[in-house]
Amino acid sequence: MKISSTVILKRGKEGSVKRFHPWIFSGAIQSIQGEAENGDWVKVTDASNRVLGYGHYQTGTIAVRVLSFASAVQDEEFWEQKIRAAYNQRFSTGILSEDTNAFRLIHGEGDGLPGLIIDVYNGVAVIQAHSTGMHRDRLAIATAVKGILGDAISAVYYKSLSTAPGKTESEYLLGMAASPHVIVEHGNRFYVDWAEGQKTGFFLDQRENRKLLGSLSKGKTILNTFCYTGGFSVYALHAGAKLVHSVDASEKAIDLTRRNIELNGFSPIEHDCFSADTFDFLKENEASYDLIVLDPPAFAKHKDAKHQAMKGYQRLNAEAMRRVVPGGIIFTFSCSQVVDRQLFYDTVVSAAIQSGREIKVINHLSQPADHPVSLYHPEGEYLKGLVLYVN
Ligand code: SAH
Repeated sequence: MKISSTVILKRGKEGSVKRFHPWIFSGAIQSIQGEAENGDWVKVTDASNRVLGYGHYQTGTIAVRVLSFASAVQDEEFWEQKIRAAYNQRFSTGILSEDTNAFRLIHGEGDGLPGLIIDVYNGVAVIQAHSTGMHRDRLAIATAVKGILGDAISAVYYKSLSTAPGKTESEYLLGMAASPHVIVEHGNRFYVDWAEGQKTGFFLDQRENRKLLGSLSKGKTILNTFCYTGGFSVYALHAGAKLVHSVDASEKAIDLTRRNIELNGFSPIEHDCFSADTFDFLKENEASYDLIVLDPPAFAKHKDAKHQAMKGYQRLNAEAMRRVVPGGIIFTFSCSQVVDRQLFYDTVVSAAIQSGREIKVINHLSQPADHPVSLYHPEGEYLKGLVLYVN
């Protein structure tokens, strides 16, 4: 990497960087020495020229995403070292097994690489850049991934159409593989479509929560709303659920859910799919269920949408609470980054009051070990869930 400019912070603004927080806001910058363009690597110093680290520069609220807090960065080793450290953490925390061959290799800030997501789907790595700098470095990143995973990787796909600023193309950076492609997760099989699917193709973050749901599904009737490709539904069926209904507003998602149900050897006798808005589905269908899953997309992507989002979560949860049988269970989630755990909890409490049911929390859920959160960057904890027991 070429480092031709230096971002100098205002006096007193170095504290958060020294505490390893990786974002430098534009308001903290005193001056820039040299020409810094979008995506450039820059050196960051305090007002007295002491080096604080190195990162990607970008015009916008977050002006620098710090990638190294060291006093110097070595070009050849940088990506290799960072990605290997993340891989070692996945390996040592037992995510990969004979039963599971899909995992998140890089989770942005949680792995010290803000702006970068890499998911590995049974031998295919899918890279997603959320910054111009990561977009520009995509080839070096792909090479490092291949260097570390070796023969365990046959292709590296790059997909940043809606995430990286500016125009990007989806393409194979190394090798090639047919999409959809089958992965195994705790023994459940799924088609993953990185080319046409949402995000990188699959929501790996719900892996452990799906497993927990399986353990509570035997003999139950289950409603899986916002099902995407049917993750929770497949686990429930494998665990012996009596009947599962899967609902998603996307026709493509429902098609893949149907294929995933078949892939796991189940039939329409025990599973039915509905391509519908969840709110409409709940309005039009009066059935009760033993277990309901609520896993909506982020209702609030920005702070100013928070109030509206809370109303959405409240309405959805109150409706599910009304519709679950006595002794029933609700898995309820929020993946909105701006809605913290306490706010989500409070919203579920107000939905409970509205429903008039007696309800207790039996589990607090989060994201798994391949979606780590840096202790210095608490914003990285985005997935919050509760398992509710409804009397
Ligand atoms: N639970 C899923 C992930 C859910 S992602 C899993 O385990 O893989 C959120 C999903 O909600 C997306 O598939 C999106 O198509 C769907 N969605 C968004 N708005 C919706 C709505 N109003 N009603 C139903 N589905 C919706």
